[in-house]
Amino acid sequence: MKSSYFVWPFTIGLIALLAYLFVRFAVWVYKLEKEDKARIRKNIFSVKSIQAIKETFIESLLHHNIFKTNKVLGYMHMSLAFGWLLLIVGGHIQTWVYYNSFSNPVYVPIFFEYFVHNKTGMLFGEALTFTMDFILLFILTGVALAYFKRFYSKLFGMKKTTSLKLGDKFALTSLWLIFPLRLLAESTTASLHNTGGFLTQNLGNRISGFIPATTFEPVFWWAYSISLGVFFISLPFSRYMHIPTEILLIALRKWGVKSKQTFDSFADVELHACSRCGICIDPCQMSSSGVSKNTPASYFLKSVRDKEINSYDALNCLMCGRCEENCPVGITTTNQRLAQRINQANNKQGNFSYLEEINYQAKPDVIYFAGCMSHLTPGITRSMIKIFRKAKINYWFMDEDGSVCCGRPQKLAGNLKAMEQLMGFNKKRIVESGAKTIVTSCPICFKVFSEDYNLGIEVLHHTQYLNRLVDQKLLPVQADNKKVVYHDPCELGRGAGIYDEPRKLLTQIAKLIVTKHEKQDSLCCGGSLGNLEIEATNRSRIAKDVVDELTRTNPDVIATACPLCKKTFIKVASVQVLDIAELIAMSIPEPNERVEKYKDITVLQEELV
Ligand code: SF4
Ligand code: SF4
Repeated sequence: MKSSYFVWPFTIGLIALLAYLFVRFAVWVYKLEKEDKARIRKNIFSVKSIQAIKETFIESLLHHNIFKTNKVLGYMHMSLAFGWLLLIVGGHIQTWVYYNSFSNPVYVPIFFEYFVHNKTGMLFGEALTFTMDFILLFILTGVALAYFKRFYSKLFGMKKTTSLKLGDKFALTSLWLIFPLRLLAESTTASLHNTGGFLTQNLGNRISGFIPATTFEPVFWWAYSISLGVFFISLPFSRYMHIPTEILLIALRKWGVKSKQTFDSFADVELHACSRCGICIDPCQMSSSGVSKNTPASYFLKSVRDKEINSYDALNCLMCGRCEENCPVGITTTNQRLAQRINQANNKQGNFSYLEEINYQAKPDVIYFAGCMSHLTPGITRSMIKIFRKAKINYWFMDEDGSVCCGRPQKLAGNLKAMEQLMGFNKKRIVESGAKTIVTSCPICFKVFSEDYNLGIEVLHHTQYLNRLVDQKLLPVQADNKKVVYHDPCELGRGAGIYDEPRKLLTQIAKLIVTKHEKQDSLCCGGSLGNLEIEATNRSRIAKDVVDELTRTNPDVIATACPLCKKTFIKVASVQVLDIAELIAMSIPEPNERVEKYKDITVLQEELV
């Protein structure tokens, strides 16, 4: 087998990259928490590892999730990742067949056409050459799309794309050069030895008419090898580190490691698995409404990675989860933001001793926890009281005499100590009451009661509870002809996965019409407590965009299931905005009373505006 010095840039780059990845992955796994390591030990030799390989193939190579979001972008990523793998596998098959041996130097499959000039008698020689040319052409179409994307991202349906740092520029330039240089190298060799396929032979025959192939053949092979070496060496310092890291991330997830609120080793793996594809930029309303161009998760994660994160960027986010929902890698972007907030928070103790003075009613069946925001939209609490009475429920309105914060706003601000204090006060009261169910009107409270309190009793949002009352015929409702459009609150929908219950209730009492952004794709109202930096005018700007979208079909009412969404919308909406609890309360058939109640609620809204 002939050898050549030109293979060294590739070989050195590959060895350096593999050594770096080995050490980096080992450190990441070593730094995981004890429980996470135990999960890995338990699952590594199970079917979960096979599932991880399957998901790696589907997501890291075929880029299935990117395909779902953007077909052209998906094709571009797939042709580069899957195509490159096919080229490597094809090169190995050619080498094994030609040399009739499995132990060949690592560089031979990569530079096979340089080393083999006589394929006479080689099993499937022509078919393999044709296939390799075809794969190279497939990759080159992806490279062409990548050039276009960098300069004309709008052609891909993306309004914005990400910027490059130095490591990215080296890696990107070398990646863009690898496959065109391989084409030129193989084509010049083909023109000299007549060993090419439909692509390389034809191109080689043509270019040999313009340039001396004997002179340029080594130049192209050297350039190809150098571009590979530069790509491998610059990869750890560039966004392309996401390629190997995503494989580790998929495996860790399958083995049971989960994202937490604090920034641990798993969060660092997630951080480096972000490809900076930019898919999360356009769905971010902070960006699309022109409020803040730095908020999208792509920029935020980059600033954390580059250790340039500041408290303003950490806090200036609605925590709506639209980026997380759209991320093809499944990065828990809201947990990443929360971890930074916790890192930066002063984490002071709060003084909530006054809460102990609140009395509670003994032995209720159900606790009703309205939440601070419901107290600011009293139409909701009044409706719930009416509903409880009508259904003859033995309930206790836990925060009737004053707002007792559930603790989630403190959590969203990163102040876990204050959150834990509030949770302690509330939990004691809830447990001592002996109730079996707690119902809340606020999705923010619902999320924290469900996820953080560990109450040991049933936690329901009022849309779930009202469905139960209606299903059990404890609450009579009647429909009318109102056209209602439903807005999914972030914390109830994307945050807690409750999409069907509100719709089921609305279809029983009104005519539910669809809107463009439904369920997982719903927009944030802009009023989110998650953003601690946004100004009121900018909240209204976002809310106005959302209301304009919701009212495109001329509904009579915008319905929602969150007091904060309601309070945000009524400031900018020209149609009525009502919570589902209010609509249900209004739909209870009570002769000579229903219209009057409806008026009450209307007046109340106007007062709040
Ligand atoms: S967070 Fe997800 S969607 Fe956003 S740039 Fe990173 S990988 Fe892409
Ligand atoms: S959580 Fe919402 S506001 Fe924050 S970055 Fe993601 S999409 Fe933008």
